[in-house]
Amino acid sequence: MPIVELDPFLIDQIAAGEVVERPASVVKELVENALDAGARRIQIATAGGGKTLLRVTDDGNGIPREELRLAVRRHCTSKLSGGLDKIATLGFRGEALPSIGSVARLSVASRAKGADDAFEVVVEAGHCEGPKPAALTKGTVVEVRGLFQSVPARLKFLKSDRAEAQAITETVKRLAIAFPGVRFELSGPDRSRTLFEAVAPEAALTRIGAVVGEDFAENAVEIDAERDGVFLSGFAGLPTFNRGNSLAQYFYVNGRPVRDRTLVSALAGAYADMVAKGRYGVAVLFIELDPALVDVNVHPAKADVRFRDPGLVRGLIVGALREAFAREGVRGSTANAD
Ligand code: ADP
Ligand code: MG
Repeated sequence: MPIVELDPFLIDQIAAGEVVERPASVVKELVENALDAGARRIQIATAGGGKTLLRVTDDGNGIPREELRLAVRRHCTSKLSGGLDKIATLGFRGEALPSIGSVARLSVASRAKGADDAFEVVVEAGHCEGPKPAALTKGTVVEVRGLFQSVPARLKFLKSDRAEAQAITETVKRLAIAFPGVRFELSGPDRSRTLFEAVAPEAALTRIGAVVGEDFAENAVEIDAERDGVFLSGFAGLPTFNRGNSLAQYFYVNGRPVRDRTLVSALAGAYADMVAKGRYGVAVLFIELDPALVDVNVHPAKADVRFRDPGLVRGLIVGALREAFAREGVRGSTANAD
């Protein structure tokens, strides 16, 4: 066969495989977009574990009519003007909406700040319709229906509605911790609802308690440490406050929720000889460092990061937690700082 250039729709479908793995990844992308748009209130509605319906409504800056078609087009973004080493937003790849639009029916309705009217585009089977007038007083509503209906191979790998809904809740929780000033409302069918009310920045612990559990605050030590320009803050649960899975380990790098091997393993190291095998410490840790010292552009889902000096970050986490535990009079069987 001769070499041919792939059809853009096919390219989007290929890219979609990496960006949207399951309904929770769609929620992550849409909520990140709402946050990037400066939303103060974000509503997430789901049905069928997100397979039937996902709707994210925000009160952010919106998208002007003339940019709506661009918003759902591959490699179109309003966020990368400063270059890859100056990323201040959660998104930057311009891939989420076109990817979603290639594996679901996608509609984006929006009213840009200062605009008199709202408009909507609809993407179906990679084909974009609109913009046509929509009824919306402000912000953006993105609706995703029938996710992966056209990609049976992917649909097969999805878990039960319940398990997918659970993953969506986890995704919202991770983002909710990073943005305590934003109100998040997640509603499922049968009127189930998770609500995180907005709190003042100095009440971040209130939001953490709402997400992780009210008893966490009473069983955690505050972490505040620095090593060679890398800052670590947050809360680490006492080793006695452990859990049977690692879901309640929340990591943020320059405000971005991440799930990174270096961090997961550092935390395991910090609790190593203090919790029983198969048990996990509970922690919410924020790492701030010069963006030049960390690469967030490792994977399309942006959950992995690469630290320039992973050993430094690991040592900082293990050292800071061990010190904080020692101050509380908690000691492991072998007190080893790294
Ligand atoms: P990225 O977020 O990487 O830029 P996306 O495909 O997620 O790529 O979104 C494309 C563009 O559409 C964004 O750059 C942004 O300008 C616009 N956009 C998407 N969602 C929203 C939203 N909820 N509010 C305002 N603008 C949005
Ligand atoms: Mg995005």
